[in-house]
Amino acid sequence: KKLRVGVLFGGKSGEHEVSLRSGASILQAMDRNKYDLVPMGIAKTGQWLGHTESTALLGGATPLKLGKAAAKKSVETSLALQATASSTAGLDVVFPVLHGTFGEDGTIQGMLELANVAYVGSGVLGSSVGMDKDAMKKMFAMAGLPIVKHVTFLRSEWKASPKKCTKILEDALKYPVFVKPANLGSSVGISKVRERAELAKAMEEAASFDRKIVIEEGVTGVGKQKGKGKPRELEIAVLGNDNPIASVVGEIVPDREFYDYASKYDSTSTSEPIIPAKVTRAQAKQMQAMAVAAFKSCDCSGLARVDFLMEAVDPGSKKEPKIYLNEINTMPGFTSISMYPKLWEASGIGYSELIDRLITLAVERHDERS
Ligand code: ATP
Ligand code: MG
Ligand code: MG
Ligand code: MG
Repeated sequence: KKLRVGVLFGGKSGEHEVSLRSGASILQAMDRNKYDLVPMGIAKTGQWLGHTESTALLGGATPLKLGKAAAKKSVETSLALQATASSTAGLDVVFPVLHGTFGEDGTIQGMLELANVAYVGSGVLGSSVGMDKDAMKKMFAMAGLPIVKHVTFLRSEWKASPKKCTKILEDALKYPVFVKPANLGSSVGISKVRERAELAKAMEEAASFDRKIVIEEGVTGVGKQKGKGKPRELEIAVLGNDNPIASVVGEIVPDREFYDYASKYDSTSTSEPIIPAKVTRAQAKQMQAMAVAAFKSCDCSGLARVDFLMEAVDPGSKKEPKIYLNEINTMPGFTSISMYPKLWEASGIGYSELIDRLITLAVERHDERS
């Protein structure tokens, strides 16, 4: 019997467009002899779309124009819940290719649990912990994984006393620091801050996206590169449920000051992935173990991409760079040229097979829980 698979894409988050691209790639690659595919678009307003509108959303570079009435009734959770209950009826599996809030953060996963349908990726806990950079770091630290020094402030704390927050921050961290909204992705709302004068603007930017803000000490380099230097950016793909496996290591060389949104998605960006990354065998092994430990520490399932920052080392230097675990992404970019599928391709699992495996893992996990 063919499995009926709903592919959910779009959504309310700042990563709506990225999700459309991932969704389109997945729908294109899935074997129609094996699956009945149901495209399920979510507009930027949060409204769940029917089949025709979903297809239009996918194909259209131009955003869908929603009527006033449609937009108005769209955002209520209760309505979204009704939408799930009716839209997931008859589906065997849902693939929520949604990034960021209301997609990667456990909210959709909670709805899918209520609807009692199998779905790809982490459950409610893994998704929500993996989305929140503050909570994620606590899990990593408890698992003994190396993370960068950081402080966390609520928007209200910053608003109440920027001076006090600045003091706490400067006592704990050295510039440059990275200011991030706790719950986001694709580098949206992230700034690199080199000195105190730049801090307020960065804090306000991050606070415009989230009520919680994480400030991290910037990873730079060792030796002459200390305090300067750009870290190497390494990524590993993890696949599985209770016994996850790690891919080869990939590297991104951002074409800007850091791997920001433009560097990730701008058509003029020359940032390029290097797979496999030039790291020693020992470093690769160490990172693969860290990736699996990170996955387990947040109770993830299905898939995740784990991002690392490695200190820059001068050529010829014998110094061993430190490797920090930066973050986990429980629903990483999933176009056929995205890092996650590319890492598996280089590790022997092609794009369509990867999707098959994820669907199987989703069903297994659902059966295991029910
Ligand atoms: P995504 O989910 O798309 O991978 P994100 O929005 O969750 O991204 P991060 O991965 O935390 O954001 O950070 C984005 C980029 O900012 C990193 O890839 C890196 O270029 C830079 N960066 C973040 N934190 C640090 C740090 N502590 N030191 C140096 N660079 C950093
Ligand atoms: Mg992320
Ligand atoms: Mg992300
Ligand atoms: Mg990242």
